[in-house]
Amino acid sequence: METRLSKAVTGINPSPTEAASSLANRMKLEGIDIISFAQGEPDFDTPAAISREAVRAIEGGFTRYTDVPGMKDVREAVAEKFARENGIRYKPSEVMVSNGGKQVLYLLFRTICDSGDEVIVPTPCYVSYEEQIKLSGAVPVFAPARKENRFRLTGKDIEPFISPRTKALIINSPNNPSGAVCEEEDLREIAALAAERRILIVTDEVYEHLLYDGRKHVSIAAFGEDARRSTITVNSASKTYAMTGWRLGYAGGPEDIISGMIKLQGHISGNVCSIAQRALLEALRGPQEAVREMRNSYAQRRDLMAERINSIPGLSCMKPDGAFYAFASVEGLYGKRWREGVIRNDMDAALFFLKEAHVAVVPGTAFRWGGYVRFVFANSREDIETGLDRIGGAVLSGLHD
Ligand code: PLP
Repeated sequence: METRLSKAVTGINPSPTEAASSLANRMKLEGIDIISFAQGEPDFDTPAAISREAVRAIEGGFTRYTDVPGMKDVREAVAEKFARENGIRYKPSEVMVSNGGKQVLYLLFRTICDSGDEVIVPTPCYVSYEEQIKLSGAVPVFAPARKENRFRLTGKDIEPFISPRTKALIINSPNNPSGAVCEEEDLREIAALAAERRILIVTDEVYEHLLYDGRKHVSIAAFGEDARRSTITVNSASKTYAMTGWRLGYAGGPEDIISGMIKLQGHISGNVCSIAQRALLEALRGPQEAVREMRNSYAQRRDLMAERINSIPGLSCMKPDGAFYAFASVEGLYGKRWREGVIRNDMDAALFFLKEAHVAVVPGTAFRWGGYVRFVFANSREDIETGLDRIGGAVLSGLHD
């Protein structure tokens, strides 16, 4: 049958992380006890004070349209946050609020890209960059980080991929899926390179508060006026405040770009939910104790997850520096046979874990990095213990040469 779909939509793939979760969910509906390390979200509830603010907003009838870029006090609170936590001075007119970090990124690519422009995407990478860039008519150019450098990106990793068509490059530190955190000197080198070659920097900082071993987050736009002028800082309440379902993202950047994003948002969704904006106000201006508590809890679970993965023959991972993902090599399982065939790649390994151990993970290919799978450790300690016991058992008894 002739397709009725546009080339743009036909040309993109469904979100592979959602695909992995939905296969696991289907098996759950069949009554199978699945442990899922696939969904990248906190297992905490949103802190009570934030939720209470939303209830107050509903009960107070705060239910009408607001300004498209975000309410005045929300934009002020976002600008204050950037100044306080990131050392970046944005005016309220240089920030905007959107429906999740995902929508911020999409508005941004649509605002800055023309057909044929190139955007450098360091890999391994968050799944939506590629499809959003393609939807904007631009071309993603993948620049691999080096695993020998713990997946920490450097200017040298990016430089060979810059061309006269390069419009922007993405930095995502802490990184999904590797958990890598860029060193400040590397970020400075990348900022200098971008300034010299007149490239915009899109810095996705949604995991900024999930840093371990005393690391401090560094924002590129804080390096000085040149960096500020060429950088768009993307952030979200999802991971920091356990607010994934609320859909709250925000950005700071040069006024022309932010205004373009707002213009687009005005025709796409209009304002972000008025109630959620009130909750964001409380999240940004209220006490931050819950953020520290959640981070400390993730840090302990990170240790457990990394230790348990590394105790299974054929699997190995580094202890991640940030985010809540352990990115594990499964190449040690290649060539082994199980009931349904031979493990030849990370997708086979993920299927083996799901079918034999009833554990869901996302294959690294989804993040443009084969040979690895991603485990989320924002799960209970019991689930981490049981899930890794199951995988260990399946590897020892369900595989043979
Ligand atoms: N950026 C990265 C690196 C992510 O991992 C995610 C979510 O997983 C997002 C952006 C978008 O998050 P949200 O749309 O929930 O704010």
